[in-house]
Amino acid sequence: MCNDNNKPVTGTMTVANLHAIGDLRIEQKEIPTCGDDEVLVKIKYCGVCGSDIPRILSKGTYHFPTVPGHEFSGQVVYDKSGEYTGKRVAVFPLLPCFACENCKEERYVQCTNYDYYGSRRDGAFAEYLAVKKFNLIELPEGVSDEEGAMCEPVSVANHAIKKLEIARGEHLLITGAGPIGLIAAMWARSKGAADIYFVDIDERKLELAKSFGFKAYDSAVRIDAVLEGTGASSAITAAIGAVRSGGRIVLMGNPSFDVSLTAKVYQDILRKEIHLSGTWNSSYGERVNDWKESLAAVSEGKLPIKGLISHKVALEKAFDAVKMMAERKEFYCKVMIEL
Ligand SMILES: [Zn+2]
Ligand SMILES: [Zn+2]
Repeated sequence: MCNDNNKPVTGTMTVANLHAIGDLRIEQKEIPTCGDDEVLVKIKYCGVCGSDIPRILSKGTYHFPTVPGHEFSGQVVYDKSGEYTGKRVAVFPLLPCFACENCKEERYVQCTNYDYYGSRRDGAFAEYLAVKKFNLIELPEGVSDEEGAMCEPVSVANHAIKKLEIARGEHLLITGAGPIGLIAAMWARSKGAADIYFVDIDERKLELAKSFGFKAYDSAVRIDAVLEGTGASSAITAAIGAVRSGGRIVLMGNPSFDVSLTAKVYQDILRKEIHLSGTWNSSYGERVNDWKESLAAVSEGKLPIKGLISHKVALEKAFDAVKMMAERKEFYCKVMIEL
């Protein structure tokens, strides 16, 4: 468990390593050594993100082999300075260049030359990972390791809901009842939204949404704001149709295909004077930090995210879990790898 002596950890560790598209292998690797600005994190949980499915099964990573996994928590078992040793942490997975114009404005997710744990460099489908101190965020008491591993989707949802500027008593529609949509709904409720409605093609996802007190959308409802979580033309069309005149739509879903709208639907954006904007990832700066807000909200019990975990699997079963998700063999919401 805890490395009380704060000594470097050496030897080998088990990882799930992506050697080619569709070739995720369980193997042994050297435990990484830490640079001066890094600590060694013993991984506790790593979520399987929706984006990991194409990363592992169809699109691949930037180079092979790469250890996937960017939604994780763990415990620092070695920090040369001793500062973080023993602490439980979540990790912001993006490594900014700190040199580009966006980085100078703390817009790290718009960095033009970034690195990323679990896609551009090795991530947390592994027993250990060397992590830059900049990327560490300490888990407050009352936030479990599982919840810590969900800090990334919680922060993405937080960022998106802030863009929607929900006013008390408003009616919100969310298209797509996956983990981020559901977490976004929890955020919106914590900000005083009245009713929160969902559309999803999967009836079981709607049932899950209802179990958290959210509703299935019905076209008689006047919708003030929409969070579009799918990137699908049909859902964007539905969002434009549902929102009231002068309402807001925030686009969050990352499209897998080209998006097209009919002229009629496009005209609705104009006629209804819809405020349309995009959201991307999350803020992790000194001035604005979605991650710190997320952990505070979880520790205060505002976001019942634990109820989203549908599967916990061993690292050895990571590939099976990814295939299960891709083929929708079972109903799932948040799938976690437990280390
Ligand atoms: Zn993710
Ligand atoms: Zn940069």
